[in-house]
Amino acid sequence: MSRPERSKAAVVAGVAVLSLVTAAPATAQQPAQSTQPAQSTQSATGAPAAQKCSDEPRDLPVHEFTDHRELGDELQRIESVSGGVVDVDEIGRSNRGREIWSARAGSGPTAVLLTSEIHGNEKTGTDALLRLLRFVGTSDSPKAERWRDELTIVAIPKMNPDAAELDRRGNDMTWDDAVQRYPQLAGAEPAWNYYTGELQGDDYSQRPGFDINRDYNPDLSYEPQAADFPGTSADTGWYLSPETRAVRDVYVGLEEEFGTVDTYVDLHHQGACYVMPDDPDRFVTMSISGKFVDDPAQTPGHEEYADEYDLDYAKKLNVAAYNALQAKANNNPLFGNITLYPQDINLPGTGLGSFALNGSGAVLFEVRGQTQTLGQKYREQLVRTVHTGLSGMLSSLASGQVDNLDPAVYDAIPPRGPSIGDTARTVAEP
Ligand SMILES: [Zn+2]
Repeated sequence: MSRPERSKAAVVAGVAVLSLVTAAPATAQQPAQSTQPAQSTQSATGAPAAQKCSDEPRDLPVHEFTDHRELGDELQRIESVSGGVVDVDEIGRSNRGREIWSARAGSGPTAVLLTSEIHGNEKTGTDALLRLLRFVGTSDSPKAERWRDELTIVAIPKMNPDAAELDRRGNDMTWDDAVQRYPQLAGAEPAWNYYTGELQGDDYSQRPGFDINRDYNPDLSYEPQAADFPGTSADTGWYLSPETRAVRDVYVGLEEEFGTVDTYVDLHHQGACYVMPDDPDRFVTMSISGKFVDDPAQTPGHEEYADEYDLDYAKKLNVAAYNALQAKANNNPLFGNITLYPQDINLPGTGLGSFALNGSGAVLFEVRGQTQTLGQKYREQLVRTVHTGLSGMLSSLASGQVDNLDPAVYDAIPPRGPSIGDTARTVAEP
């Protein structure tokens, strides 16, 4: 599929609106409007908005996002008004005892697992999942009916509530906590993804934590062993945290029920200052990906996963999301600024990597900017971006159209351009 025709003026207007929003947070929730000749002229001749970008951590308000208590209230409300369509369960507790909830909707044969906020400073996914649950739980539209008939959707919004409440990347768990849970780790070197210093403007020295998006293992029955520590980014993780265990248990339950978890989507944020590869004045709204691990057939120790692993299917799912966003780019140019996330990563300790090795079509969304760089500035726009991509993917899955999509379209999605931010950035991804 080729990208929809868009006038240069519309693109420039989008950049101009972005620039205005940067200067005036009160307008952050306004979508990009139609072409304004004055803005086009100004943007075409003035300083590019993109030059002002910074990844320097700042203390910014986040109260417009849904916090843990509000999430509990809203899930309960959705369950209630859906009249039994949405079923909310507590699937576990965080290390600090906060509830982790799943919300399940639909009775179809295709299992779809959606998670958000594994990094607590990456919050738009949670709001997008709530929007999705409201729709599938209450709409009587043919689209919602088809989703419910063909899919079983399980969403785990804010799967890392301790990190979310602290508005930071890592969870709230010490190495001593881990050893207390797994006494066999006494004397082992702490995990490589255990934070005790400064990261993204957060001081972990008094309140350490783990990047739990390196805590997964494709061996779904793995138990921590001292010999496997400290590990590296290219290694599998350990299910040390109660948060990843809760998600793993849901995944295993779905496998038992459906044979395979057809699709797994994990919702993230990336650096604030990436630009399109062909236009340094257009920020990347979202990067997407279906590739997180090296080919298991060529990876020692991972050969057993080669039969299940299906990169082409993950590519098709990404194409479904991409097409849905491009289809809306005429009305809102920011939906057109979608790029492919770097494809050279090998992260088997991520949820995406581990579940892809178990045969799920895995999809990563990385919208622009974490809370320490953008706060809640583009909340509505980015939530809409995530929701549009997810919605297109689910419709394609429900109709079966996803099988007809061409993985080559994925390979042709423009790669993420450079970050034009300052060099002090400490953004860890995904
Ligand atoms: Zn992330």
